[in-house]
Amino acid sequence: MHFSTKLLHSGSEIDPHTGAASVPIYQVSTFGQKSLEEPGVYDYARSGNPTRQALEDIIAQLEGGVRGFAFASGMAATSTVLLLLSPGDHLIVSEDIYGGTYRVLTRVFSRLGITATFVDTSDLDNIKQAITPQTKALFLESPSNPLLKITDLAGAAALARQHNLLTIVDNTFMTPYLQRPLELGADIVIHSATKYLGGHSDVIAGLAVVKDPDLANELYFLQNSFGAVLGPQDSWLVMRGIKTLKVRLDQQQASAHKIAEWLVQQPEVKEVYYPGLPHHPGHQLAARQAQGFGAIVSFKMKSVEQARQVLNGVKLPVLAVSLGAVESIISYPVTMSHAAIPQARRQELGVTDDLIRLSVGLEEAEDLIADLSQAFRI
Ligand SMILES: *Cc1c(COP(=O)(O)O)cnc(C)c1O
Repeated sequence: MHFSTKLLHSGSEIDPHTGAASVPIYQVSTFGQKSLEEPGVYDYARSGNPTRQALEDIIAQLEGGVRGFAFASGMAATSTVLLLLSPGDHLIVSEDIYGGTYRVLTRVFSRLGITATFVDTSDLDNIKQAITPQTKALFLESPSNPLLKITDLAGAAALARQHNLLTIVDNTFMTPYLQRPLELGADIVIHSATKYLGGHSDVIAGLAVVKDPDLANELYFLQNSFGAVLGPQDSWLVMRGIKTLKVRLDQQQASAHKIAEWLVQQPEVKEVYYPGLPHHPGHQLAARQAQGFGAIVSFKMKSVEQARQVLNGVKLPVLAVSLGAVESIISYPVTMSHAAIPQARRQELGVTDDLIRLSVGLEEAEDLIADLSQAFRI
């Protein structure tokens, strides 16, 4: 089946009890049991809820894994996955990772004796050199955030396997439509479903999918023990979003490409970061390992003042944190998504004060370009 068909026909789309063509919202905390001897499938809704289960089955299918898990947020998904580790364990992490992932690793898991080394994973040698006897996992984001560096996921996963490391990939920017890390050798995929999967700026949610049944059992134990599960209303919203994932991303990617090409031509712009541009250092690799280049375009203006002028001057994109929605979202990484990273470290990473990140929505590309154009020349 093609991906667009799979989005609508996962096997979980019809309620088995009533035939409802949209999975019902089971707003319930506990389930009556027939008798002590015959426990039902569901007992308590932290442990399992039919609405959440439908979403978990859908994401597992779309990512090609054995089991999916839905969490209260992307960070809840990430944190629960990180609980697979123990004191003394070490991780190697993509250096321009999502700011919240950096924060939880450096300020929460560090206190529990779990350490992380942040390297530019777009060069596999950097990963190789960071491996220690304590290393247990790689945590990768490709394209990275906000500079859209590409990591060779199959290469990294192969390296991880040689050293008995888990490979965890945050696939938020790509979604399973454009990139399926489990097929490239990763063990765990994480999503902030708040972004493209939900797609409408109306829900906070996280997902994880694993490939191995034993690992699935371990993660299920942690999901139920830690308890940061997604509620049924929010599970339903994410399922509704997923149905239109392909049509949204097709349109958003096409517009992102046009906007990136236009940005390159603008004298006020110093640098454009979009993997779909042939000059992007990860272009060939992205073309090989993903089915598209996504709809996030980052760019640096020639001055900090110009960057602030554009952020304040645009009329169509929402000036906001977040991405992956139907409406375009423009953000300023240094004070928004990456504020949790210390300034000196941001500077080293190239997340500078002149950098703007644009999540391209469903508006007509020409309208977005006209809007950017007026903001450039205020
Ligand atoms: C937003 C985001 C997260 C965190 O997800 P929340 O749903 O906000 O908790 C993690 N990774 C990436 C790449 C993100 O963009």
